Amino acid sequence: MQIEQLSVAELVEHIGKGDLSAAQCTEHFLGQIRDKNDDNGAFLAQCDQEAADAAKQIDASIAAGKSLGPLAGLPVAVKDGICTAGVTTTAGSKMLSKFVPPYDATIVSRLKDAGAIVIGKTNMDEFAMGSSNENSAFHPAKNPWNHDHVPGGSSGGSATAVAARMAPVAIGSDTGGSIRQPASFCGITGLKPTYGRVSRYGLIAFASSLDQIGPMTRSAEDCALVMQTLAGHDKKDSTSAPVDVADYMAALNKPLAGLKIGICKQHFEEGLGDEVRAKVNEAIDVLKSLGASTAEIELPYTQYGIAAYYVIAPCEASSNLSRFDGVRYTNRAAAEGLEEMYSKTRAEFFGEEVKKRILLGTHALSSGYYDAYYLKASKVRRMIKNDYDKAFESVDLILGPTVPTTAFKFNQHAADPLAMYLADVYTVAANLSGVPALSIPCGFDSAGLPIGLQLQARRFDEATLLQTAHQYQTQTDWHQRSPQS
Ligand code: GLN
Repeated sequence: MQIEQLSVAELVEHIGKGDLSAAQCTEHFLGQIRDKNDDNGAFLAQCDQEAADAAKQIDASIAAGKSLGPLAGLPVAVKDGICTAGVTTTAGSKMLSKFVPPYDATIVSRLKDAGAIVIGKTNMDEFAMGSSNENSAFHPAKNPWNHDHVPGGSSGGSATAVAARMAPVAIGSDTGGSIRQPASFCGITGLKPTYGRVSRYGLIAFASSLDQIGPMTRSAEDCALVMQTLAGHDKKDSTSAPVDVADYMAALNKPLAGLKIGICKQHFEEGLGDEVRAKVNEAIDVLKSLGASTAEIELPYTQYGIAAYYVIAPCEASSNLSRFDGVRYTNRAAAEGLEEMYSKTRAEFFGEEVKKRILLGTHALSSGYYDAYYLKASKVRRMIKNDYDKAFESVDLILGPTVPTTAFKFNQHAADPLAMYLADVYTVAANLSGVPALSIPCGFDSAGLPIGLQLQARRFDEATLLQTAHQYQTQTDWHQRSPQS
């Protein structure tokens, strides 16, 4: 049995039946990490002992005939911006290089309660700010399809881990595309749930009105299984919604007949790469052949999404990151007095991109500028949300490319950082409006790099996203291709 190629359902089934022990399975994936991590940098930490202990417990429960959780024995990689009790959680920053949280994030407890085993912490852009993993304070993760190319970001380590078969599942977070863009660049499936669907308790906050945690897997079916465990209200997160969780697995096999898919005109305008356009159009044909119908829709204000996002996100980041001051959690720089200690600590341990965003955000929130920037961006955000509300009166889903291009090369945007921000053009609107969005692989470009298709749905309708993605994956095998490295 080629363990690293098994689906989540297959792994859990084999472990439950006893023909693969949780210990064997865990050791297999830990071995994959040991073999590949020097080359691709997907992980910042490996949880050998914790994972082996957890696997032993699962195997003991199986031997004792106890009832098992829905993910019993499943190895999971967790983005390093999500707190894991007793395991260093750096958020990709030197600031937190020695931070060991005393508690698990709610999603980590939920995964563990379901029987999943955390095998490691994945690489990321510092404090989730970035689209390439080049902002990791430690080393960048690399795209497993071609190591000269970025895996995307900020959850680039999670995407690399899943694509390179070092973990069957990884957890990411998405503030402006950080699950979907790396999923697209690495040829995997990634879901940003509705704002409020998954608890963020224990997520190191970047921009609190935009952040969501979600699953990154090979297939939509795997994604649905994991999402079932992640989703749900949490009283520890006041933004988590008391909305019932759908049965995602039951939704997968419903036929697409009657489904109305909106094709957004603004997603196919100038700036979209030809090969991406062609593959997305082919995917539309596949969905039509399954009984879905399409209609052209407009989201006129999405063109201002980037401008609004790159005001709102830095503003919220400047506030959220004020807690990293050398007093608690963090490393501390040597200094004479308190003021100097704050400034030296922040100067020494934050990276360039993080400092840039703190400066931008602090400026935009300062008195005299607030109305011109944050308030105005918030108004634009409302108009984008209104666009979505209107579109969803006539269609069930919105389809388009996830990113205008395939994975770019390392350093490609070094001289023009704005170009990297602009590549978030199709992803940020889902965060600004709160709707759920998913990226699935829909082909490869002529250089052999994956292309991603984005689906967006009404708030709390993850079921339709997963259903459509799964139905598409019954007709295509893009999600099953594996890279050489
Ligand atoms: N690329 C975007 C940024 O740099 C999105 C990051 C994210 O979703 N965490 O802010």
